[in-house]
Amino acid sequence: MSLPFTYVIGLEVHVELNTQTKMFCRCKNDPFGSEPNSNTCPICTGLPGTLPVPNKEAVRKTVLVGKALGSEIPKFSKWDRKHYFYPDSPRGYQISQYDLPICVGGSIDLLDSEGKVEKTVRFERVHLEDDAGKLLHGDTPGYSQVDLNRAGVPLIEMVSKPDMSSPEEARRFMQELRLLVRTLGVSEADMEKGQMRCDANVSIKFTHEGQEVWSPITEIKNVNSTRGVERSLTVEAQRLYDEWIAGGPVRTRKNKLTAGWNEDTQTVNVQRAKEEANDYRYFPEPDIPPLMVYEVPELHPDAQTVPELPNQRRLRYFGYGLLSADIEVFLNDAERLARFEALVALDESKAKGSSNWLINAPTCLALPDADIITLVDLAANGQLAFAKVKPKLEQIAIEREREGDIKSILSRLDLLQVHDAAVVQSAIEEVLVEQATAVAQYRAGETKVLGFLTGQVLQKSRGKAIAALAQEAMIQALNK
Ligand code: ZN
Ligand code: MN
Repeated sequence: MSLPFTYVIGLEVHVELNTQTKMFCRCKNDPFGSEPNSNTCPICTGLPGTLPVPNKEAVRKTVLVGKALGSEIPKFSKWDRKHYFYPDSPRGYQISQYDLPICVGGSIDLLDSEGKVEKTVRFERVHLEDDAGKLLHGDTPGYSQVDLNRAGVPLIEMVSKPDMSSPEEARRFMQELRLLVRTLGVSEADMEKGQMRCDANVSIKFTHEGQEVWSPITEIKNVNSTRGVERSLTVEAQRLYDEWIAGGPVRTRKNKLTAGWNEDTQTVNVQRAKEEANDYRYFPEPDIPPLMVYEVPELHPDAQTVPELPNQRRLRYFGYGLLSADIEVFLNDAERLARFEALVALDESKAKGSSNWLINAPTCLALPDADIITLVDLAANGQLAFAKVKPKLEQIAIEREREGDIKSILSRLDLLQVHDAAVVQSAIEEVLVEQATAVAQYRAGETKVLGFLTGQVLQKSRGKAIAALAQEAMIQALNK
């Protein structure tokens, strides 16, 4: 598919932090679990005369995010008021950060299916602010309610540079960010709950009659799914192109548009020309002193421990021989990931085998770690057939509850492949006589007949031979 234009995409991603309390007061940070307006106080409802006090843990989590992204963490940052009127924000302004955010720069790599860096997306900044409340539009026309439980919840805004060049890349970037904040433990980042939301900026460039043309930038607000990000960017870029070609109203790069994404109709609604920064009348928040994270031991960047990040983990797993698709299954499934890590801790040399069982026969998760390792061992030695055991795993798990030893269960269910060396030996002797031509061929250097000869031995052993061991014995006999 070749498009007549190229994409220029940058994302602003808002992520709610999972702190115990809100950003500037001691109200519980629990926008979902409570009665509307129960987690509120004079501070987060914006009553005059109240004093906001920043949440240390929210600042710490922001520093941790910055450290994981490789951002610069400046010595000094500050808070600013960003003014806009909306009924879910009773203060009339948001406490945000304007020119001096907590984190500056940084980047995240998107890896290809072999673990090589395919794309680096850089960040402009990550800053901390507070969330607005929510409007509830009920059935009564002309009547809405406001719930301020979410007002004042800590929110980080992660602003990328316009480094993405396709809607698909933007979706992957979102997925990667979600994985990152979950790995860091700073947010559950459930997009359906609005814990992670994206404002997607898109413009296009193309050549028209020998001239390079840049379209206006459209900011698509509050997209709530990674698919929605991909789809809305595709739709809006095409619209920008069609509008330009048709000689529509907006033809210069300077114009900025704000739009909404309608998930149901899969359409972008362009709402208004975007406000410039000075429309927000930013000014320094007079009620909160500037932030100096290096002066507070718990907030110092050196005091933050960054866990193994998704890309580091991917590279370690590639080292075990895992495939990209399987690695992604683990990274996006906390339970299976934890079990896989436990198995790796038990026996790293069996990581690949353990992963095969966890991915292809997830029912084995009902078994203790040591039993899974036993299954891996037995399968690797040819002592059990994966395909035969897989449909029986549920039963095995139930019996395992009552009985201690998995090997005896496997044997009772007739799932263990037996190997009777004497039976195999006599089968080999028969084959050496009956297949004299093939034997001579092998001894003359035509080793490809080995498979055929081993097959004959297995047939004669009637289920009492493990293929790998039978083949080994056959080679020995042939080399005599
Ligand atoms: Zn409050
Ligand atoms: Mn924001």
